Amino acid sequence: MRVIGSDRVIYAFSPKNEPVDWVDLNEEFWMELRDCYSGQIKTEKDLRPNIDTSIMDAATGPVGIRGVRHGDVIAVTIHEIELAPQGVMVTAPGLGPLGEFIREPNTKIIPVRQGLAYFSDQIQLPLTPMVGVLGVAPAEGEIHCVVPGKHGGNLDTKDITAGNKVYFPVFVDGANLAAGDLHACMGDGELSGTGIEIAGRIRLEVCKVPGLYLHGPVVETETAFMVLASAETFSQAAQEAISFGVELLQRSLSLDFPDAYRLLSATSDLRVSQIVNPLLTVRVAIPKKILPALI
Ligand code: CA
Ligand code: CA
Repeated sequence: MRVIGSDRVIYAFSPKNEPVDWVDLNEEFWMELRDCYSGQIKTEKDLRPNIDTSIMDAATGPVGIRGVRHGDVIAVTIHEIELAPQGVMVTAPGLGPLGEFIREPNTKIIPVRQGLAYFSDQIQLPLTPMVGVLGVAPAEGEIHCVVPGKHGGNLDTKDITAGNKVYFPVFVDGANLAAGDLHACMGDGELSGTGIEIAGRIRLEVCKVPGLYLHGPVVETETAFMVLASAETFSQAAQEAISFGVELLQRSLSLDFPDAYRLLSATSDLRVSQIVNPLLTVRVAIPKKILPALI
């Protein structure tokens, strides 16, 4: 199976990035991912203010997908996530919503083995591995890997995990898929500014979804389709996600706007993905009992 190594990375999603490799539609392949610090924090002596921030937030790739054109929609299936044996969580002055209360930088190394993250001797957490950064090249410009958007990027959505699919509109031929920022565990919001940051590798497969139009990323879980939106404010992001959700219901179920709006309200949950990136991300989860398929 093809392996895309973590020696080839991007720091911004851009149509100018040349693919480092190509895969076929419906071909399974591995991508090796650095942690978000590019491996610079290995011990509790390695502090966040002392690392080289220019090599942070690298995404592996991009990978070109043969047979995919601008205007298509792709579905990226995450078949498997393998984690390195240790993760890290840092705090430092200014980091995250409570950063003003932090006086000294502090690094916590968190061993990961046998399905658990060893947060402390008393506290072990079941792993909830997820991919923080996953996206395709935008139509124009450069979007730094810490920014989420219609192209994907730093979505930090805990449902971007093994067994689920992420749908993206394609803006350039080949799509140019890149991924990074694995987390061993993270809750909705990413409340301190980081998950349990960790390196590892992910096994992916990309297929094309004919006849579908999307404004931005949609995550498919076992039970729901989740419409993601990112914006500067919570209300803007929520309005976008709700609007895309209503549009999906209108199209798929042939409803008029008022009925799709009512049906979304009666059945679907608005959830916060993350509040710590340059744009915040929310998702509206439409149950598959209501919307069994996207088309
Ligand atoms: Ca992230
Ligand atoms: Ca992260």
